[in-house]
Amino acid sequence: MKHKNQVFDNLLDLIGHTPLIKLNKIASKFKGNFYAKVESFNPGHSSKDRIALYIIEQAEKKGILTPGDTIIETTSGNTGFSIAMVSIIKGYDCVLAVSSKSSADKIDMLKTMGAKVYVCPAHVSADDPRSYYQVAKRLHEEIKGSVYINQYFNKLNIDAHYNSTGPEIWKQTEGKITHLVACSGTGGTISGTAKYLKEQNPNIKVIGVDAFGSVIKKYHETREFDEKEIYPYRIEGLGKNLIPTATDFDVIDEFVKVTDEESAHTARLIAKSEGLFVGYTSGAAMQAIMQLGEDGEFKKEDNIVIIFPDHGSRYMSKVYSDKWMNEQGFFDSKNEAAAQNIQY
Ligand code: PMP
Repeated sequence: MKHKNQVFDNLLDLIGHTPLIKLNKIASKFKGNFYAKVESFNPGHSSKDRIALYIIEQAEKKGILTPGDTIIETTSGNTGFSIAMVSIIKGYDCVLAVSSKSSADKIDMLKTMGAKVYVCPAHVSADDPRSYYQVAKRLHEEIKGSVYINQYFNKLNIDAHYNSTGPEIWKQTEGKITHLVACSGTGGTISGTAKYLKEQNPNIKVIGVDAFGSVIKKYHETREFDEKEIYPYRIEGLGKNLIPTATDFDVIDEFVKVTDEESAHTARLIAKSEGLFVGYTSGAAMQAIMQLGEDGEFKKEDNIVIIFPDHGSRYMSKVYSDKWMNEQGFFDSKNEAAAQNIQY
């Protein structure tokens, strides 16, 4: 980090070096020590700052990008925000094709950050010309001098985390980490981090978190793409209806699936128990911990690192809205207390 007396040349110098924060309450009924790698401390409030900066700087090094060029991406929001932020500082145009599943807050934020946003239907197949993949591909062909980041199929996504998130966690845990638990979307975070950590200690157990409605877990187990696994779900940024090449399935030991409803309640519980205001997938990752803990996965001496990918402020109209929770039927079943805003 290039800084003196906490004065920085620009925001980019603040990317990475996020804190590892001990979770003292939420998992206290389980054996083991639980630590969250809180990625909302990045200046763009998510882990995606790391890949935006890394991939853009790799393209600059290869002479592919020069100021004034256009950067194109498909994104559920966070990557778009990070690319838009890096583009402003480095002088690029940013064009984003996003899923209609993304929250209105996220889309407004991208526009605020100067990006040109195309909203594409979420529930069409990846090869449909209306899908955000196809829209981005078409824009890349049409816009001269454009670079398509293509985070799901770009191995540099893995390298970004191999070079930053992995070494940070190794250092922060003084090499004592025993488990890594992380959501898998593009798979870049878990793959790059796991690859680095397993090179230091192959015994570290790496557990991916997937959504019901996604093909990732089944693919990991069978190496076959099973279309029957696919159906709509609400968590943004987790799981997939295709197999991303930015996922290195060989460095992941197992996947755990979590539901929309339990992940939403667990995200709310993280705020209420730890004072950490994080996003929906942080709730999903923590929900996986709850399930693994119930199954007796952890021992007293274990040091479990959980990645919390982004900040809660991006979900005010969703998980952190009682109205939204009610509309999903998430207050109907076991969590009546939450509906009345009773303390957990
Ligand atoms: N959480 C959120 C909120 C995300 O936007 C993403 C990225 N799609 C992830 C988790 C998963 O990270 P990765 O793409 O590196 O697997």
